[in-house]
Amino acid sequence: MFKLIQKTALLSLLLLPVSTNTTFASEPPANIKAILHDNTPLAPAKVFDNVYCIGTKSVVAWAIKTEKGIILIDAMWDDTDAKTIINGMKKLGLNPEEIKYIIVTHGHGDHYGGANYLRNKYNAKVVMTKVDEILMNTLNTGANSSRSPKTPVDIYVNDGDKITLGQTSVEIVETPGHTPGGISLIFPTTNDGKKEVVAMWGGTGIPQDKELQSAYKNSVTHFEKKSKDMNSTSEITAHLFLDNGYNKLDIANNRKNGESNPFIRGEEGMDIYFKELHQSIDKILNKN
Ligand SMILES: [Zn+2]
Repeated sequence: MFKLIQKTALLSLLLLPVSTNTTFASEPPANIKAILHDNTPLAPAKVFDNVYCIGTKSVVAWAIKTEKGIILIDAMWDDTDAKTIINGMKKLGLNPEEIKYIIVTHGHGDHYGGANYLRNKYNAKVVMTKVDEILMNTLNTGANSSRSPKTPVDIYVNDGDKITLGQTSVEIVETPGHTPGGISLIFPTTNDGKKEVVAMWGGTGIPQDKELQSAYKNSVTHFEKKSKDMNSTSEITAHLFLDNGYNKLDIANNRKNGESNPFIRGEEGMDIYFKELHQSIDKILNKN
């Protein structure tokens, strides 16, 4: 019981400072307290033909390489993490000077904190919703402490917008719930030359606030529809302590050409993923 209370308190502190309770779509690991504070870098990995994952046990950023530069998704906690992203990219043979856009999924410090450093260094454009820019700039506790520098936002996005670089367009799907202005993303890639479509649910904790909970439910429905319309086959997250992510990253990093990619779920696997997302929020709503 004590452990459970500690876990809940910590989640609320780090991931959802506006609430006193947070639940994840997937069960967080028992040692989550240590993991959320764990800045141990993960081995940077090429996950799809042009999609890369760089980060720590706490949180990761994803890089999409296009003919015209790099789109970065999320920027981790702070300047130190921004340097982890830069070093990881270099190890993968990516040039961080090519970062053109930094898409920030939501206004919590573990996602925007490194953006200001990268924006200043590489003149990259920060992409976010107006609503979560306000959250970022007005909330200064929990995950939004002084550890995570606020960043100017260059491009405001709304549902249905696309961030396009070269041949790649990232679809913006507004999915309020975890935060009021959070977004999720869908984009095409290839795996060993075969087309895949990646869905990324942007905010992974269910809030305690009842209005946001009902928004969360609607957002899962909305994102599921959009994902199906776009034939999503694969799923990624910023918090790899969920969904067996460390292991998947390791497998993706060490697999040989032709071996299966654990981030690809296929049509049926995506159905199961969304079923589980629905179940996690339904469980909370049914208690209300
Ligand atoms: Zn968050």
